[in-house]
Amino acid sequence: MSLAYVALGANGDDPAGTIGRALAALEAEGIAVAACARIYVGPYIGDYDEPAPELGVVHNTVAEVRTDHAPLELLQVLLDVEKTFGRVRDGSPVRVIDLDLLAVDDVLMQTDDLVLPHPRCLIRGFVLEPWREIAPIYPVPGTGQVVSAFADKLRAQHHHVWPEAAAPLPDHGSEVVQLDDAAALAEWRNSVQGSVGVVPTMGALHHGHLSLVRKARAECGAVLATIFVNPLQFGEGEDLERYPRTLEADIAALSRMGADAVYVPAPDDLYPEGFATHIAPSGAAEGYEGAARPGHFGGVATVVAKLWQRTCPDRSYFGRKDAQQVAVLQQLHRDLDFGGELVVCPTVRAVDGLALSSRNRYLDDAQRKTAVSLARGLEAMGEVAGAGERRALLLKEVGRRPIELAGAEIEYLDVVDPVHMRALDAVEGPALAIAVVRVGDVRLLDNRWLVVPGGRS
Ligand code: AMP
Repeated sequence: MSLAYVALGANGDDPAGTIGRALAALEAEGIAVAACARIYVGPYIGDYDEPAPELGVVHNTVAEVRTDHAPLELLQVLLDVEKTFGRVRDGSPVRVIDLDLLAVDDVLMQTDDLVLPHPRCLIRGFVLEPWREIAPIYPVPGTGQVVSAFADKLRAQHHHVWPEAAAPLPDHGSEVVQLDDAAALAEWRNSVQGSVGVVPTMGALHHGHLSLVRKARAECGAVLATIFVNPLQFGEGEDLERYPRTLEADIAALSRMGADAVYVPAPDDLYPEGFATHIAPSGAAEGYEGAARPGHFGGVATVVAKLWQRTCPDRSYFGRKDAQQVAVLQQLHRDLDFGGELVVCPTVRAVDGLALSSRNRYLDDAQRKTAVSLARGLEAMGEVAGAGERRALLLKEVGRRPIELAGAEIEYLDVVDPVHMRALDAVEGPALAIAVVRVGDVRLLDNRWLVVPGGRS
């Protein structure tokens, strides 16, 4: 685990809110924000470290983060987060959000992509002052001096541009409006002017769900999450009753991510007395999860169709983690002419590679170690495909080995095309390795892209 310092700067609309949401986005990537200074406001500083007050003010702060990522991986996450907030590094003075890696532990590093400590952090008041607030005696690697010594020295020279602490950090976003029934939802929907992004979930939110909220926040005017443990998609003897319900924590997490509203219907709000129409998807819904859990995708398609009708999203967000669900919903969207765009987001994983899932909480420590073999098996398939192996039979053999060695029980493991969810004999174009394993009585689902060099994409 490393300790790192990240500088955050923003000068677009709602800069303080943007900084709060960027911190939440880092947390969604598994980077724990241990401390953050207040927000400091100072004049825009140009590329030659000259103040340019005609360009307005910039809001800045510094956060202390803890992470298992190596420095270059951490830098990549910062760049990815900048990108999802719409930052373009084109020299333009508008920094929707600017994330700079200042220092990591006592690392000294100089590569084309990253220099640590950040070469200019020690000559910038808007970095040193918030940094001093949270880490006054952190010895800046390679300098023999602590942060507050640099801050004092610089302040003596640059008093005219010294930034002021303006505001406490906002509590990462704002209050989420809770909508309990269709009437409240309709009223909220009618009040929204711009685009609406919808993130359907069953609650017990983790960083996988929150990554969808973050993407929606970056792309839409208003963000609505839905939390509904949908009885229609659970079969006889499945875990409907024991499915985790953590509404209070979910709402706090949504507000940190900057969601605007959350629809939390009771079952009879969606399925009132007399409800008798179900969608029955075939095609992509037939194999794998569809075969193992009869009626499951019918339940998913019915609830999502109703949520689309009620929320009229410009975009709705789903995770690739549930690859067959994505295929079924894309088919539903096409076949029944739903509007809006369906956005598919990458799977978020824990540091050990296990795909995040609300059901992971049922695993004890030993089971969790076994569970990681699922990701390892799929990863191995990805590597072997990447080295040029196209034959599904061989790829599956490679995937099975680590899982069986770890003692997990494979329910299915296959190579499929991601649109129709049909088994492939060979990887020629887009292909997914999909699998379900059982560890104890927990059923774990995961998938990976298989990309063969020279294959169609
Ligand atoms: P659920 O609450 O399990 O129905 O999931 C709600 C949404 O979150 C679905 O679109 C899932 O695919 C997505 N999701 C669940 N886990 C992850 C993950 N680890 N990474 C990305 N998306 C996820």
